[in-house]
Amino acid sequence: MTTQTPGSVLPPAYEPASVESRVYEMWESAGHFQPRIDLDREPYTIVMPPPNVTGELHLGHGLEDAITDVLVRWHRMQGDPTLWLPGEDHAGIATQNVIEKELAKEGRTRHELGREAFVERTWMWVRKYRSRIADQHRKLGASADWTRDVFTLDPGIVKAVRTTFVNLYNHGLIYKGLRMINWCPRCETALSDLEVDYLDVQSKLYYVRYPVMGEGGMPLPAYVTVATTRPETIVADTGVAVNPGDERYEERIGRQLLLPIIGRDIPIVTDEHVKPEFGTGAVKVTPGHDPNDWEIGQRHDLPVIIAIDPKGNMNDEAGPYSGMSAEDARVAILRDLEDEGFLDHAEDYTHSVGHCSRCKTVLQPLPSEQWWMAVNKEYEPGHSLAGDAIAAVTEGRIAIVPQRFEKVYLNWMENIRDWCISRQLWWGHQIPVWYCENRHMVCQVEDPDVCPECGGALTQDEDVLDTWFSSGLAPHADLGWPDDTEDLRYFYPTSDMQMGYDIMFFWCARMIMFGLYNMRERGPEGAVPFRNVLFHGLIRDANGEKMTKSRGNVVDPLIVASTYGADAFRFAVLTGATLGADQKYSDERMAAARNFANKLWNSARFVLMKVGPREIKRPHYLDRDLLAVEDRWIMSRLEQLTNDADSLLKAYQLGECARQIEDFLRGEFCDWYIEMVKPRLLAGDERPLQVLVHVLDHGLRLLHPFMPFVTEELWQALRPQIDDDMPSQLIVAWFPKSGANWKDAAAEQAMEHVIEVNRTIRNIRAEKKLEASARPRVVARADGYAGALRETLGATNFTSRVELEVVDGAAALPAGEWGFGRVADTEVAVALPEVDTAAERARLEKELAEASAHMERLDKQLGNETFRAKAPTHVIQGMEGTLAETRDRVAGLRERLGTL
Ligand SMILES: [Zn+2]
Ligand SMILES: [Zn+2]
Repeated sequence: MTTQTPGSVLPPAYEPASVESRVYEMWESAGHFQPRIDLDREPYTIVMPPPNVTGELHLGHGLEDAITDVLVRWHRMQGDPTLWLPGEDHAGIATQNVIEKELAKEGRTRHELGREAFVERTWMWVRKYRSRIADQHRKLGASADWTRDVFTLDPGIVKAVRTTFVNLYNHGLIYKGLRMINWCPRCETALSDLEVDYLDVQSKLYYVRYPVMGEGGMPLPAYVTVATTRPETIVADTGVAVNPGDERYEERIGRQLLLPIIGRDIPIVTDEHVKPEFGTGAVKVTPGHDPNDWEIGQRHDLPVIIAIDPKGNMNDEAGPYSGMSAEDARVAILRDLEDEGFLDHAEDYTHSVGHCSRCKTVLQPLPSEQWWMAVNKEYEPGHSLAGDAIAAVTEGRIAIVPQRFEKVYLNWMENIRDWCISRQLWWGHQIPVWYCENRHMVCQVEDPDVCPECGGALTQDEDVLDTWFSSGLAPHADLGWPDDTEDLRYFYPTSDMQMGYDIMFFWCARMIMFGLYNMRERGPEGAVPFRNVLFHGLIRDANGEKMTKSRGNVVDPLIVASTYGADAFRFAVLTGATLGADQKYSDERMAAARNFANKLWNSARFVLMKVGPREIKRPHYLDRDLLAVEDRWIMSRLEQLTNDADSLLKAYQLGECARQIEDFLRGEFCDWYIEMVKPRLLAGDERPLQVLVHVLDHGLRLLHPFMPFVTEELWQALRPQIDDDMPSQLIVAWFPKSGANWKDAAAEQAMEHVIEVNRTIRNIRAEKKLEASARPRVVARADGYAGALRETLGATNFTSRVELEVVDGAAALPAGEWGFGRVADTEVAVALPEVDTAAERARLEKELAEASAHMERLDKQLGNETFRAKAPTHVIQGMEGTLAETRDRVAGLRERLGTL
């Protein structure tokens, strides 16, 4: 029978593909992702920003998984009941667009399919993609509790959405109203202000003459000229407005104008909001098709005419142009204006136009009956949704990290307007409102059978809610609200929340408003959805460009993780930027992180081979005096790192924490400590084994949250060799805490010096081009540090390949050639190889003969008057310079020959 040593169990190189899925499966099947509710302990809870069911995880999700998983594993390893609650979002408009595109490929539309079949088809898609998304998170190592996975259309969330809607409605915070909205004619739905992209568009500004009407209904030979970018809306004009201070129009105020082509009379009104410097200072007012005109119309009681329908076609109000598309109508109207002499002129004009953020279609502003959420209205004295959300942050009940984003949040919240929550889609939470034939309206959580007032049949409001209405409920709804569940009682408020700063308003702001409102019975402290919200930056491509499908520069995190290992991916994105700042993706960073994992693997493998079948006791701090100075140094450094890691993680400085752990493990532990103890191990000294095992154990624990797979795999091999009562998996092993027992300032100072001396020796070796195989003699003349240098003499000899002698500062150096360096009180002298004098003399004499001959030639030529008269000045000057240099060289060579 052969005994297998642990080191030989590990393959010679780390291969992520053969480790990751096995290790993940081991954790998940052991139930480590599911917290145990322990009322004596404060839980740690974090909700996953639910990715859209429409597709694959992108780099941003990968970064979020890395950030969250570090926090989650760190808390879990401290024994906190830790819940990472995963979910997926039904993503109303985005998903509906995807399915519509699929249908288009088959030559069909959703209207041909019908609502029920369309929704069923979308569910089929969801069932396929949901599990795919969960598997992608698993591949990145996300230790989320998949038994609690939530989809935003689950029955529990439906109940939460309806309950919220009904409560807000009963409080008068949800209302139906005719307002100007952003209408996408392609998606055929209203959009919130946040879903509008403003893009600069090159177009024309048309100057159109509106005749002034005199007494008796006859036009005068006078005009008011207005400028417009949208002549097709002229058919819906109900007034012309000028600024009250604009003297140009003083005489016209109160008069009627004749609407060209249409022939309707419209009034001239004055409005403070008209800018005299725009166009001619007179603007046409089209309340049905422009949000600003809507406001002007409201102030002056102008009628609203809607001439363009929701599909972007002219309706009956457009008279002769009805039935045309808006684009065709524009051409026809411009032609008619020109023919009848109303078109004054046109000029090029660049202005910003709202586009649908989903499909890039130019939006139509339309007054439309929509559902709104009143964010500034008081629902109880002193309480509005926005006001509460501001107070939670200014009163410090919710902390925003990094703090500079607090101003952005508050500024938005202070200027927030009512939120349009209805969407004319089929995929989503249908609004819980029903109507009967007698125009009675029912708003309730459960589907009603008949109208409670007249007993008539009911039909449900066709609209669905904005996707962010349901995801905004995530923290409490995902935990079971409105039911009083054990999860809700224990895990709410959640601890941390993290997201890209780009969805601060969409999501963070709404979670805060909804959480504070729905959970208000818990009081101000207990109602907040989370205690801290972290905003991370975006990952851009190597050139700093945003990654988009259209640019073709998107990097797939799953491909990166399978190339370099999930650990390397996580480590590289975490150390790529400080929280809140954007970073650039680079393959070099991924490769560097993979090298770190490999280096750790090789070092751990070395330690395990040295340990062999032994069971190792940890070094005890009472035995400190028995340890060598390098042992006490690495133990002290580990303790410092443990301390720093704790404070950095508490401050959410995850990247800096990862960098410090890497510096310690890669530099101090692998490069120095392991190398330095090799001669002691060879000599049979077993004390370093205790230290090696202890530092490796703690190092793996500290690194585990950042690089979970490689650390778990190595720890599995190490654990049987440690004489401790420990859990069987690193994922639940205790995260190191500093007990300050091993702090040893003297050892740190001494070893810093020893390391610097070694660096100096290596520099001299390199400068003097010593052979790699050479073992030169080195004399270190030192006073205070002599003891440390003597104690580590064997280590220095081994790692820097020298024969070191430590002498006191007054000692003289033996004869010979030396290369010198100095570190603090220590003079370092490295013996250089002896020189062959005879050969060197021959070489120098040959060089001298050549230089002398060259000097004579130059001297002779420059002494030739004919040459001097013919040659250009710069040639003469050049030769004179060369002559001077050659003279110096000849003198130098003679001097060196004299010293041989
Ligand atoms: Zn659209
Ligand atoms: Zn009724």
